[in-house]
This record gives sequence, structure tokens and C-alpha cells, in this order.
Amino acid sequence: MIGQRSKPMSGKPDTNPEMKPASNYETTKMATGQDEQLELKAVVEFLMSVAPNAEIRGNGASSFLFAQANNRALELSSTADGVWVEYWQGDIEMPDHDCLFPTHYAAMLDAKEWLTHNTVLDRLLPCFNCENAFTLRDLLNSAKASWPKQKWIALVCPSCSQNIYLQLHCTTLSVGELSGFPGPTFVPKCVVDISTMSFSTENDGVHLYYQSLSWFVPAN
Ligand SMILES: [Zn+2]
Repeated sequence: MIGQRSKPMSGKPDTNPEMKPASNYETTKMATGQDEQLELKAVVEFLMSVAPNAEIRGNGASSFLFAQANNRALELSSTADGVWVEYWQGDIEMPDHDCLFPTHYAAMLDAKEWLTHNTVLDRLLPCFNCENAFTLRDLLNSAKASWPKQKWIALVCPSCSQNIYLQLHCTTLSVGELSGFPGPTFVPKCVVDISTMSFSTENDGVHLYYQSLSWFVPAN
């Protein structure tokens, strides 16, 4: 199994882990004992480039991986249902971010993104009025209204309080402006890949999901 890992282990950072086929990885049986140690060691090696202190702690079935970098930390362990990862920002546990992954591969990609502040929610997007940049997490937390049919979301800039508009597509999100009232059209100004997120549109609003996090933006 270690041999099969050589390719992704040495690959460049993947910004789209959910789309990666996991067929090379054992998904049906969670390893225990010695296999489990090998799985965790492979994840330690993978994370070493961004978290040199990554290590396996505990013994036998209670083994888990601990890694820390860039004021973030995580613990990764195998369970009967998958690979469980818990996250910390500084000393603060982030239970909303905790996630059960189907494979070690999916878990270690997300772990690396977390430690390098490179998850989709960490992507910086600008306000075109004040030109300050905000994480996608901050912007979604500021969302106030949506137009489900057009997949538009309006939010208030955390800095200048002007409106910022987002438009959702299948796997991308645009930041832009509305122009041409009445009957406005959306004018995209920059785009971010959100293929690790999902969303749904209902009559009463737009739902967005990232792992165990979710947002609901009521319809205007
Ligand atoms: Zn602004």
C-alpha cells in the first residue's frame, strides 16, 4: 500500500481533493494495528514538508497523528467509519471543522490545506469598493440575502459596509457587481474554485456546505 502512495505523496499540493479518485486507497477496511501504523506513518511523511513536527502519538489502537504549523494544529486517527480529523486554530478547538474522511488520502490532503491556510475558506477575495481582501469564510459569514434563481448572494463588506455580490456556478464562485437596474446583470470580476464545496438553491434561499460547515442565505 505504501508503494501505491508514492505518486500522490510526492505530487504538488492538490486544490481539489474531493475530485481525486481514491481508487488506489483502501476504502472498505480501516486498518488496525500494524497497518494503522503504516497508514499514519505515510500521512506523517506527506505532512512533513509543511509540518516538520508531525508525529504519531499514543500506542496501538489508540494511536493518532499530531501535526502543527502556521498557528494551526490537527489530530488525525482511524475509526471504524473512516479517518477522523480534529482541528485547532491557535489553542482554540474548531469543532465545526471536524470531519470524517472516507480515506487516509482525502484526510491528509485536507490536513495539508488546513496547516497551510489553503482551504477554500481561506482564499482571499477583494471588496471592489474599499479594495480590502477577506477570506471566503468571512464573506460567507457576512452574507445577508440571496437570489436563488440567479444564484446570487449579497453581503456587506466587513470593512466599508458596501454591498459585495457573489455568483455561484457549478464549481466556481465569482465576486462582482450588479449593474443595469432594473433587470440587473451580474458582472464578474474575479473567480475562485469552490469544487470542494457544495450548494443548493431553494425558493427560500441558498444553502452552502463545506465539510461539516453550512451557511443559509435567505432569499431577498
Ligand atoms: Zn469594502
